[in-house]
Amino acid sequence: MRVPLTRIETTGALPASADVVVIGAGIVGVFTAWFLAKRGMKVALVEKGVVGGEQSSRNWGWCRQQNRDARELPIATESLRLWEQFERESGESTGFRRSGLLYLSNDDGELARWTDWCDFARTAGVKTHVLGSREASERGRATGREWKGGVFAPTDGTADPGQAAPAVARAIQKLGGTVHQSCAARGIETAGGRVSGVVTEHGTIRTPVAVLSGGAWASMFCRQLGIRLPQATIRSSVMAVSLPRGTLPDAIHTAGITVTRRGDNSYSLAISGIARLDPTWQKMRYARDFLPMFAARWRSLSVGNTEGIRSGHEAMQRWRLDRPTPMERMRVLDPCVDNATLKVIHRRAIDLCPIIGEKRVSASWAGYIDMTPDGVPAIGEVAQIPGFVLAAGLSGHGFGIGPGCGHLVADLVSGVTPIVDPQPYRPERFDESVWGKVANF
Ligand SMILES: Cc1cc2nc3c(=O)[nH]c(=O)nc-3n(C[C@H](O)[C@H](O)[C@H](O)COP(=O)(O)OP(=O)(O)OC[C@H]3O[C@@H](n4cnc5c(N)ncnc54)[C@H](O)[C@@H]3O)c2cc1C
Repeated sequence: MRVPLTRIETTGALPASADVVVIGAGIVGVFTAWFLAKRGMKVALVEKGVVGGEQSSRNWGWCRQQNRDARELPIATESLRLWEQFERESGESTGFRRSGLLYLSNDDGELARWTDWCDFARTAGVKTHVLGSREASERGRATGREWKGGVFAPTDGTADPGQAAPAVARAIQKLGGTVHQSCAARGIETAGGRVSGVVTEHGTIRTPVAVLSGGAWASMFCRQLGIRLPQATIRSSVMAVSLPRGTLPDAIHTAGITVTRRGDNSYSLAISGIARLDPTWQKMRYARDFLPMFAARWRSLSVGNTEGIRSGHEAMQRWRLDRPTPMERMRVLDPCVDNATLKVIHRRAIDLCPIIGEKRVSASWAGYIDMTPDGVPAIGEVAQIPGFVLAAGLSGHGFGIGPGCGHLVADLVSGVTPIVDPQPYRPERFDESVWGKVANF
């Protein structure tokens, strides 16, 4: 009943040195390492558990421009192109397809918001179609009901979360990069104030550049280095049903339920925005930073349980580099599903598409989504420690924009013109005020 994920082989011994060490092999880490390896750099990617084991396999797979905040739209557009480029150049499959994304609604307010976004998107050259009732009902015919309207985003699509990060990791290995699983980075070493090495549980790799793409663990890692990164996770639950391919459109979103085809013969079912907020010390510490974010979403968030404390990713403890760390105690963050939410998901999915009721539930899982206070990623070199580059806080959108984020990090590291303006992502913005600047999702 676990989340489907392809496993890959670990590269043998750790290298003594590398041009860049990437910490964390989610979608952001693997694409960062792949773009660097393509530029001829010697890259080592270290992962405490398995490639893609956390958020990057647990998501729905949406790769969208539709309804993106203006700060993320350029990187979303570039990412769609890069998903295709990756498959062409590497010969590996991530399951990416520009299948189009279908949004359906009977709510006038929601339809008006989508129409406004489409007007804005056209000014950015993004193709998207506002649907009237006839077209929406026709495209959503699998639901067997009439819809007031909707949106169809023909150039957006989905990739398969179970295949994507492992496929990119294999491509890194083909280019001569190394991928080390069950290898937690415990910390970094500095010389003259700048990065000189990454200390892992299996030894130290000498390097002038360390990229932290550690997802939900990033803030805690940064705290050891005296870097303040406000980050909070929410726990979201998903279930999958086995259905023959083509039974439903690849990706349908309604306010009640979101249905997405996965790479295997299943569709994932989930409710957009609904999640549990598990109390932790880290959340208390950054409570003030997150007030606007959680106030904007209070209807869909509810207080969870002690799962966040048990998982250890938001602990406040300090650790030594010569002893096992919390990352080695929790190889893969695999939180409990919220059974009450799963019941609602199943009921709503059957209500939307009755055929789902006749099929087997093939899997269910939960994932911690790592958020920043404004819902925009934190990407860039940390001024305090030259050579230490942050790429975390993807705030629930990081799978689709993973390729663009990886490219941007590779650009910043290799000193070439960045693929998009990096300004909106600067990690230092959290030391200024991001109040009231919460992204529209
Ligand atoms: C239920 C759900 C639905 C979602 N739906 C979508 C969607 O449809 N579209 C979308 O774009 N996004 C979606 N997201 C968000 C998306 O999955 C994430 O934003 C994205 O996967 C983040 O990628 P990442 O590489 O930053 O982090 P992760 O995938 O979490 O990877 C971080 C990795 O770092 C490793 N790590 C951490 N610390 C260390 C260390 N010290 N040493 C070594 N390794 C370390 C971890 O083990 C982990 O494997 C969803 C998320 C969830 C949970």
